[in-house]
Amino acid sequence: MVPQNIAIVGAGLAGMACAKTLEAHGARVRLFEKSRRPGGRMATRRVEVEGVNHSFDHGAQYLTAKGAHFAAVLDATRAQTWPDVTRRVGQPNMASICRGLADGLDIVVNRHVVEIAGRPGAWTLRHHDAALITPGAPAPDVPPQEDGPFDAVALAIPAPQAVPLLAGPAPHLAHVLEGVVMAPCWTLMIAFPTRLPLPDTLRLTGGPIGWAARDSSKPGRNAEQENWVVQAGPAWSREHLERRPVVVAKMLRDALEKLVGQPLPPPLICLAHRWRYALVETPLGAPCLWDPATGLGAGGDWAIAARAEAAVDSGAALAAAIRRQ
Ligand SMILES: Cc1cc2nc3c(=O)[nH]c(=O)nc-3n(C[C@H](O)[C@H](O)[C@H](O)COP(=O)(O)OP(=O)(O)OC[C@H]3O[C@@H](n4cnc5c(N)ncnc54)[C@H](O)[C@@H]3O)c2cc1C
Repeated sequence: MVPQNIAIVGAGLAGMACAKTLEAHGARVRLFEKSRRPGGRMATRRVEVEGVNHSFDHGAQYLTAKGAHFAAVLDATRAQTWPDVTRRVGQPNMASICRGLADGLDIVVNRHVVEIAGRPGAWTLRHHDAALITPGAPAPDVPPQEDGPFDAVALAIPAPQAVPLLAGPAPHLAHVLEGVVMAPCWTLMIAFPTRLPLPDTLRLTGGPIGWAARDSSKPGRNAEQENWVVQAGPAWSREHLERRPVVVAKMLRDALEKLVGQPLPPPLICLAHRWRYALVETPLGAPCLWDPATGLGAGGDWAIAARAEAAVDSGAALAAAIRRQ
């Protein structure tokens, strides 16, 4: 029987693309998201300094569409070209692309799913207030809430995070996902009172920095600000993965100073964010993972490639697989 009542864990691009496709074919879908807003790695951080708002796209930097489906998504959300006509960004920020996609979806936010319980045809999700969950720490002292039963559950979260959720109800699926490798990315958000003598974008190899961009040069941002997003490369990010954000922020600031070749002005903002699972290194090699026997599956960029378009394509493929059941 084709599942009609479906839970999706994760409201990033993949989860929302999966939900939209399923709903277009008449299914009832509920998404569970641990963050305060949908969007996942299509993220924007807002920081207020002395009453002035600054924003940084500290996840995906720009989007490229190879296929017609993603091109239509970008057109629908009025994404603008930057820094050239081949690449596009959300306006006024990257998160706005996800806000458009989230419209009309049933998304439960601030809920961290910790267990898939039940049996095929009647799955239950157990979830906690996300504020109570610290990665690596013991489970919270309060019982989780439960939602369900669902005919099917789709995990639209990074593969390494899907493994523990699938290990109990579908160890064969968890085993397949163990082959997916994702690289971390330390990201610096730094704002200056004056302009740096650098081009708007730089892609680099061989040092700590892999990419740096004048975020405030994107269309629709405050062009009077000098806000930068600096991403460390995967090797450097791995080497310094467990360092404190404040230490990493200083190290990446120093690397930026070296790049500029002269002392940097004192920054207004200097914050580091760690993406533990940022970019896919070894993908699944199939558009998604779906097991009709259990009614459980997973999808995300990690199935195909390290690009936002892959997340949308994987989510749509997962929906198609669920409907073929
Ligand atoms: C630093 C960085 C730079 C990037 N640059 C680019 C770029 O320039 N161009 C490009 O195309 N792509 C880029 N990407 C990749 C792009 O952001 C991703 O491919 C895409 O956003 C992945 O979408 P997704 O839905 O597969 O996963 P995610 O966006 O990771 O969504 C998963 C969601 O699941 C939630 N979640 C996880 N676990 C649970 C749980 N247990 N319970 C409830 N919710 C949960 C998360 O909070 C998240 O919202 C970049 C990514 C990063 C991190």
